[in-house]
Amino acid sequence: MNQTVPTGVNTNWAIRNAVLPGREGRWSISMAAGLITNVSVDADFDSTCDRQAIWNAQGRLVSPGFVDPHVHLDKALTGDRTADAVAAVDLNTAIRAVRQLKSNFTVEDVARRARRGLEMGLAHGTTTARTNCEVDRFIGQRAVQGIQMAARELAGQVDVQVIAFPQEGWFETAGSIEDGAGSHVAQAIEGGLRIVGGNVNARLWPSDPERQVYETFALAAKHGCDIDYHLDNWDSADAFTLPYVAQKTIAHGWQGRVAVSHIASLAHVSDAVAANTIDLLKTADIQVCVLPTRMRLTRVLTLMEAGVNVSCGTDNMRDPFVRFGDADPLKALLLLAQITHQLHNAGLERIWQTMTTNSARMLRLTNHGLAAGCAADLVVLDACSAPEAILLQAAKLAVVKGGVQVSGPLQVAPSLFPSF
Ligand SMILES: [Zn+2]
Repeated sequence: MNQTVPTGVNTNWAIRNAVLPGREGRWSISMAAGLITNVSVDADFDSTCDRQAIWNAQGRLVSPGFVDPHVHLDKALTGDRTADAVAAVDLNTAIRAVRQLKSNFTVEDVARRARRGLEMGLAHGTTTARTNCEVDRFIGQRAVQGIQMAARELAGQVDVQVIAFPQEGWFETAGSIEDGAGSHVAQAIEGGLRIVGGNVNARLWPSDPERQVYETFALAAKHGCDIDYHLDNWDSADAFTLPYVAQKTIAHGWQGRVAVSHIASLAHVSDAVAANTIDLLKTADIQVCVLPTRMRLTRVLTLMEAGVNVSCGTDNMRDPFVRFGDADPLKALLLLAQITHQLHNAGLERIWQTMTTNSARMLRLTNHGLAAGCAADLVVLDACSAPEAILLQAAKLAVVKGGVQVSGPLQVAPSLFPSF
């Protein structure tokens, strides 16, 4: 292999002879000071430039780093702590099981598991993640502190966005499991988090879902925050607050700043209601996130074909909600491709975008992609195309963050870890 590895960390280097997602031919990528400086057809590569190193990809796939838009790091890797994990067959049971667990979480415990979860994602090519973080009377703000500790420890390797998430429901409703996490979300936002979460589900909580939406928008407007909801996660047309969320987004001028995950009920309303709602989502530029490991999916293809920005996340990881998971984007993408019957090349290229281009847009990243000026966040895969990478669950050979290799068995770049 034509490879020159410099000693020390210097981000002035280039990749030649790479295949890029969705593009024909072979390409070269030049990087300096943590940024991509040039992407060109490989035949046009300027070999006269002074570079520390050039790595020959030999036709392997080089993608922008994965952006995982929906994970739950705070309760990750706790599935073995309770017998309830085995019995968690519905949302109610899982919520109650986690309630027991998190009452005993310490900041250090959350930090250790969050770090492990981020490192697992990083090994699979995830260079940016958005995590939900529960805040309520059971956990207080300890999970926020733990996740922030893990994010600080991994600064420069993976970027982390944190949602203040009211898993227990926004309001307190006597005689139900809805436990009034709204005030804790407000406290987290006042403490510096920049994404207001919501758990809006008309079938799960007895309180008025539109009132929760109203209050989350008021909090977001007061602090200039984005919003990210768990929304309408029920296989029924009864839990359908999505049109109201879109209307509020337009009324507040919050287009592009509101993300919704699940929206399973959209699959259960009539085709006419769905079509009207999807028109509204486009006007509101609502960011939709689907989570195939839950298997309860919405009208994914209809949303994509209508031009709605659809992302895919890995969601829970070995906790009372989902017993498996290792934060691997490729596994989630294969599941999504299977469930939506998108196993042809054009479909798989589109599926690839749900954890790169589309999820970067959902997280409002302005420097993600393969173009001059973008952050040099890359993953090198042992595949000759994005469809092949999904179908064959390709090995991730190298992960690069800000021009520096941070993970992977094949050293292609200046590395944080010269002993790789
Ligand atoms: Zn979730």
